[in-house]
Amino acid sequence: MPDEAETESRTAAVARRAVSRRRFLQGLGVAGVAAGAGGALIPLTALPQRERALAENAEDEKIAAHQWVMVIDMRRCTNERDCMSSCRKNHYLHEGQEWIKTYTIETHNIEDPHGHSHYMPTLCMHCQQAPCVKVCPVGATFKSPDGATLVDQDRCIGCRMCMAACPYDVRTFNWDDPLPAPNVLGKPAPEYPVPQRKGTVNVCDMCTHNTRNGELPHCVDACPNQAIFVGDLATDLATDGKETVRLSELLQDNDAFRYKEELNTQPRVFYIAGHGQDES
Ligand code: SF4
Repeated sequence: MPDEAETESRTAAVARRAVSRRRFLQGLGVAGVAAGAGGALIPLTALPQRERALAENAEDEKIAAHQWVMVIDMRRCTNERDCMSSCRKNHYLHEGQEWIKTYTIETHNIEDPHGHSHYMPTLCMHCQQAPCVKVCPVGATFKSPDGATLVDQDRCIGCRMCMAACPYDVRTFNWDDPLPAPNVLGKPAPEYPVPQRKGTVNVCDMCTHNTRNGELPHCVDACPNQAIFVGDLATDLATDGKETVRLSELLQDNDAFRYKEELNTQPRVFYIAGHGQDES
């Protein structure tokens, strides 16, 4: 984990860069909103307090004030894949090196005899009990105080044990030289690992460089159907970039579920079931 001075300089560098996108997330940090996500999130509601207790310094404590989660509303996803292209473009990734990927699931059963195609955007689940973190022999993969699972390319030795341990198959390996990219933070950092480094493992960074700057993750911003929400357990708010709702109500009222919940990895990505029928 970077020291305080290093983190401060990175954060300042991010803050200085030109912002052309709407800064929705500032609304998620409005003081006076009740903390806690309600009864629907019992295992995760304790996280802000737990993360704060773990915070090593004032900067970490500040970061831990938000506890990010993602919510994918599959009723709205029509497989446009703008999330994929925006993520790739903004992280300077090669074609086919996807940090978010939309899978198509075909269903035919007694309740759905005519069948439907379901589109399931899949990204790092930012597991609270992350198998990748547990197996990394050099501590290159770690949990950020705000809940993201990040990779420190300076530490990664490319052993790929994390790729084998991840039950969601969302990590990729940098086999090739990275695409040329601007050095936004002065040098690649776990919060914005751009450009990538050959011989290291990479995965969705939850756009930590954006959320800490009051901006939306790129996939949320790019989705034309507002199918992806970013939410904050600490303020119990979530936004799809267009509207802001109560996170707990969004999850509870729509029977949100987590992928492979039975593994007890405690994913921070929630799904609302559907098959694109709510295209806006
Ligand atoms: Fe790690 Fe995979 Fe969980 Fe992401 S989804 S935190 S890469 S185990």
